[in-house]
Amino acid sequence: MKLDNWIGGRAVPPAAGEYLDNIDPKTGRAVGQVASSGADDVDLAVRAARGAPVLPLDERCALLEALADAAEKRLPELAELEALDTGKLLSATESGDVPRAIANLRFFAQLARTISSDCHPTEDALNYTLRQPLGVVATITPWNFPIVLFTWKVAPAIAMGNAVIAKPSELTPSSANLLARLFSEVGAPAGLLNVVNGTGPEAGEPLATHPYVKAISFTGGTQTGRLITGLASPLLKKVSLELGGKNPSVVFADCDFERAVEGVARAAFFNTGQVCLCGSRVLVEASIHDAFVDALVAQAARWIPEENLGSLISAEHRRKVEGYVKLAREEGGRVACGGERAGPEGGAFFAPTVITGLPIESRAAQEEIFGPVVSVHPFEDEEQALESANAVEYGLASSIWTNDLTRAHRVAARIESGMVWINTWNKRDLRVPFGGMKQSGVGREGGRYSLEFFSQDRNICVQL
Ligand code: NDP
Repeated sequence: MKLDNWIGGRAVPPAAGEYLDNIDPKTGRAVGQVASSGADDVDLAVRAARGAPVLPLDERCALLEALADAAEKRLPELAELEALDTGKLLSATESGDVPRAIANLRFFAQLARTISSDCHPTEDALNYTLRQPLGVVATITPWNFPIVLFTWKVAPAIAMGNAVIAKPSELTPSSANLLARLFSEVGAPAGLLNVVNGTGPEAGEPLATHPYVKAISFTGGTQTGRLITGLASPLLKKVSLELGGKNPSVVFADCDFERAVEGVARAAFFNTGQVCLCGSRVLVEASIHDAFVDALVAQAARWIPEENLGSLISAEHRRKVEGYVKLAREEGGRVACGGERAGPEGGAFFAPTVITGLPIESRAAQEEIFGPVVSVHPFEDEEQALESANAVEYGLASSIWTNDLTRAHRVAARIESGMVWINTWNKRDLRVPFGGMKQSGVGREGGRYSLEFFSQDRNICVQL
């Protein structure tokens, strides 16, 4: 399969004629090729996007719903492509990623229909606000949830009347390209949604610096987020950044033990630990620390590569994860389980790994590993739990496990993260603000936050 760009409603080969291999991480084998685009391709896409008409709100929303219907009909194919690109299990993409992507499309179409504008009447004047599109906007998305994040950004951008240029990760391009094609098939005008494939430096940077691209919505690593901000800020573009995390799961002795250990394991190993929200630091009250470690190790054994645990995104990424386990050992950590490759030869699988005894300030306990690796740290009391939870540069998400709800609210208010779950993890409502504090990002996505990002308010004042 050779994947070109989707520009102006048709497949367009990359200007330089170059392609990259698309590797199946479960086998290490190339399953196709994807366009390696550069500044010329980005420019072509921007011109196509500028030529797209601004449709009435109802038509935009109806188109998104038609895309959701078309995606639903092609669910098995989308799920297969997503599993092939990412190394996820087909069962996960069929029941999780693709249905969620379809839900994103329907959710934003429905929400956008409800937007209203402000009106400030006084005795001698009437001020009213118009919420209008920005023009051409870009989305840059990573490889861990390709179809989910593509629709999470593209749907509100289109709903608000913008034309979009999407750059998926070159490691996971297939679902975005199929959706763009389906969008044209259901009647979207040429140029409304374009996909430019290629690497970050070659295809992403020209998008971030193109003068006609008015906003960039980015999800990915913190380093890349900083780089994009540096490129886009001098041009005064709007930038939304959803970045990394080193999220604490804080477990108090009065928790529901079984429920907590299951939830903490899920937070650690879901999507093979490749989730910005993953609970990769487990802080446990000292009195139950040893019992909790034993139970977590027992839970880890239930996450079985190829059975209910997909592979990592690539062999290269697995080397990074292995490097962190090695570093953790050097920093005084003890590997209680895992710490090694797993699954079939050629695949990028890695065993669920629990590490104890690491100092909270060690690099392995501070930096985002983005694999199925957690470190467990004891704490004596609430103050120490909070100190450890907040002792990282990140501030994306956290979970608190306790049956003392007064304490749960108190800790939730002081923990430095954009999202806090109490006695659960990753329970999502698409209306709520999603985003991080500190080095985990700038801005919020979800519900009205996304609609606001992809639009601008203008005020009209009438003298009465
Ligand atoms: P990146 O942040 O590099 O990739 C995210 C997206 O940004 C991809 O589409 C990538 O393109 C693009 N990109 C990369 N460099 C640039 C650039 N210079 N200009 C514009 N766009 C760019 O993530 P990585 O894949 O390199 O992963 C590195 C680490 O980041 C992971 O190990 C993990 O710790 C973290 N990460 C966090 C994610 C999150 O959800 N918060 C998601 C993914 C990674 P391409 O991949 O095509 O090069």
